Amino acid sequence: MKKIILVRYGEIILKGLNRPVFEEKLVGNIKKAIYKFGKSKVLKSQGRIYIEPEEENYDFDMVLHKVIKVFGVVSVSPVWKIDTDYEQIKAYSFKMASELVNQKRYKTFKVETKRGNKRFPMQSPEICNDVGGYILENIPGLSVDVHSPDFIMYIEVRENSYIYSETIKGHGGMPLGSNGKAVLLLSGGIDSPVAGWMMGKRGVEIEAVHFYSYPYTSERAKQKVIDLAQILSGFCGKIHLHIVPFTEIQLAINDNCPEEQLTIIMRRIMMKIAEQIARNSNSMALITGESMGQVASQTMHGLYCTDSAVNMPVFRPLIGMDKVEVVDMARKIDTFETSILPYEDCCTVFVAKHPQTKPKLDKILLSESKVDFEPLIKTAVETTEVIVIKP
Ligand code: ATP
Ligand code: MG
Repeated sequence: MKKIILVRYGEIILKGLNRPVFEEKLVGNIKKAIYKFGKSKVLKSQGRIYIEPEEENYDFDMVLHKVIKVFGVVSVSPVWKIDTDYEQIKAYSFKMASELVNQKRYKTFKVETKRGNKRFPMQSPEICNDVGGYILENIPGLSVDVHSPDFIMYIEVRENSYIYSETIKGHGGMPLGSNGKAVLLLSGGIDSPVAGWMMGKRGVEIEAVHFYSYPYTSERAKQKVIDLAQILSGFCGKIHLHIVPFTEIQLAINDNCPEEQLTIIMRRIMMKIAEQIARNSNSMALITGESMGQVASQTMHGLYCTDSAVNMPVFRPLIGMDKVEVVDMARKIDTFETSILPYEDCCTVFVAKHPQTKPKLDKILLSESKVDFEPLIKTAVETTEVIVIKP
């Protein structure tokens, strides 16, 4: 017998003929996430994945922690895998129940049995009664509650048998890498890390770009973005973070364009540079943390002007979300505390007092034509620093 991890996945099961491709990707991603923590076998069987440790010092808890972050995983359970033998079933159900009662002070329970192996001589209700009775007799203070027990002891009788109780929820979604790659415009704020996470959850690999305006923004502001990318990579795997020097461009916009258009023009140039990085990195779309109406540049008119700067899809997964919803998600994915550190962003350094909320594209284009952005963009792209962030 050994303690293993049962991994459940959801939406992939709906895939028709492509299903094995998605499953293989998921198994591969799980292997990548856990290989550092000990030798194990990762096996797929009947719509589930089992992780079976193969060494003494296997870091079981760390592996659990990593697996629930893998996109595509709906839930995991620590499980005793034992022989399909009634004495073992009873003994290990009792062992797990005693551990749970000791750790969590549970008072009530019930047993549920699934018998996939029809050759096993006992039927499910009989197993439930007998094992339940044995646990009751031997753990003082515990009673049965069939309606809302503190814990359920699950027994699955198959080729082998499986005993488990705890189920830890994952994030679901699609396996990373099953839906191409996109460039995330990653600021140091609350929104963009959440936006990247949401696309990662749908299987999109992330390439990140950050614009910084040294010395108007500090080394620590840059470090904050590296830290955010590091947290994201816990979910999204390896991330190339492109740090684009943006000072010259911002100064050029500042010196030559009308103040109320500064933000929109700056955002358009960001998009153009991000598009080049996308084309150079096999990415097919851009991702931003914009949400409808959140600030002056995120109005319908503003987004129209921003979108018109590029020729690839721009995904804005937060478009319909309220700030409080985004904050909740940022907390859930652990980026919030880093995002609220008070270092300045290049957007906040050069900011108009009264930015336009209804910019007109023709007027914006006219202002842009007064600056020769091409060489500035070229230099910015050429002097971009790429940092490889590993999970
Ligand atoms: P965030 O919380 O993500 O900073 P925000 O609400 O502050 O978003 P803006 O500052 O208007 O919004 O930026 C809108 C989007 O533009 C961001 O979500 C991000 O995708 C991108 N962005 C803004 N500043 C930068 C930057 N310095 N580097 C890279 N992307 C940026
Ligand atoms: Mg911002």
